[in-house]
Amino acid sequence: MLLSVIVPCYNEEGNIDRFYEETVRALGDLMPRTEIIFVNDGSRDATLEKLRALCARAEYRVRVVSFSRNFGKEAALLAGLRSSEGDFTVIIDADLQQNPEYIVKMMKILEEHPEYDAVAAYQEERKEGFIISAFKHAFYKVIDSMTDVKIMQAASDFRLLRRPVVEAILSLPEKCRFSKGIFAWVGFETFYMPYKVEDRASGTSKWNFWKLMMYAFDGIIAFSNKPLIMSSVVGFFIFMLSILYLVIIVIKTILWGDPVAGFPTLACLILMLSGIQLLGIGILGQYLAKDYTESKGRPVYIVKETMDSHKPDAGPEKVSGKN
Ligand code: UDP
Ligand code: MG
Repeated sequence: MLLSVIVPCYNEEGNIDRFYEETVRALGDLMPRTEIIFVNDGSRDATLEKLRALCARAEYRVRVVSFSRNFGKEAALLAGLRSSEGDFTVIIDADLQQNPEYIVKMMKILEEHPEYDAVAAYQEERKEGFIISAFKHAFYKVIDSMTDVKIMQAASDFRLLRRPVVEAILSLPEKCRFSKGIFAWVGFETFYMPYKVEDRASGTSKWNFWKLMMYAFDGIIAFSNKPLIMSSVVGFFIFMLSILYLVIIVIKTILWGDPVAGFPTLACLILMLSGIQLLGIGILGQYLAKDYTESKGRPVYIVKETMDSHKPDAGPEKVSGKN
């Protein structure tokens, strides 16, 4: 197999057929050596029925991995990468925001430049609101200063990988997966290709501000220990300040016999210190929670069913909880 196209789908009933047609048209001669792997991430609409029908009629090879519930895009990407058999693997969204024609361009780049192992598409101009855009900018600044991995700010998950890169990504056993960080962490030479993002063909985006915020925290925790170090440093400075304050109070009392006073100071100090303590415990808790999740060793997703247009008799595979 030359090329595997991985498509995570969550409630994309309106996009499946169009995605297949547009991809077949865009890839042209590549199609006979291409497999399209749709990962149905526990969709609540008719996505699975659409995929079943597509599998039954598809001219080219279509495979479906269907989860038992929604496990999130990261889990869908992992399942897709695990199933992929191609020498090249491309990850692309189902909503046609990323035009499949770019896949041909990406393939050309890798064919012409053996020194590159991956092509990542980045948006030249973002079609996002001011707040989301500013928030993302701030996030990349923070993660850049806190981690050793360099994540290119505008790069998306839309990327083409050579097989060794896929193998490297799959060799990471962690359950809490932050793909943008993992792509950067495994290294290899990446070519950054600009692309123009389209409007969603159908349906709505699954991201909102809160989800993005949680995603950002996950990314920082997964790739940096600096928040822990920072909370220790802050604790140390406050301790030093308190010693200084103690000395001042002792001197003032000895020299001038200061009367009992300072309730506001006390109230402020208690509030400030308990706030900082809670923050520190919270940060510690985040790491502990991640470690707890990892140590439970639960699979990242549960596959309920798989389909293959070229092996229609294989039938649905029964529950397999690969981790
Ligand atoms: N997606 C998924 N599981 C989820 C959320 C999203 O598989 O829990 C898929 C979704 O179907 C789409 C891709 O991930 O193919 C990107 O999602 P979306 O278009 O909502 O994100 P955006 O383009 O707004 O960043
Ligand atoms: Mg989208």
